[in-house]
Amino acid sequence: MKCVFCSSATEEKVVEYAEMGVNLGRFKAKVCTKCGETFFDSETAGKIQAKSKELGLFGLAKKTKVAEVGNSMAIRVPKRLAEFIGLKKGQEVLITPEEKNKLSIEV
Ligand SMILES: [Zn+2]
Repeated sequence: MKCVFCSSATEEKVVEYAEMGVNLGRFKAKVCTKCGETFFDSETAGKIQAKSKELGLFGLAKKTKVAEVGNSMAIRVPKRLAEFIGLKKGQEVLITPEEKNKLSIEV
């Protein structure tokens, strides 16, 4: 197959795949020889999703609403997500704007 993004040739490789910083294992993929983009066939994508579910990563991203507390904004972090990143009540965290529309919270 050709790369969807740059139309260069792809080669079959076994690559490590990580989701949310957790290594899910090594999977067969087609990797673009020019831009390095990785493509998985539907069977492999299914295996990756199964592993993600098994490790409790699947569905961690959730929509949440912003509330106003005094002069600050408060964002409710769902329990599963808080547990995943080790966030605890009263803990000090570092909030950094990563992009104009993206925040990162470091515990
Ligand atoms: Zn490419």
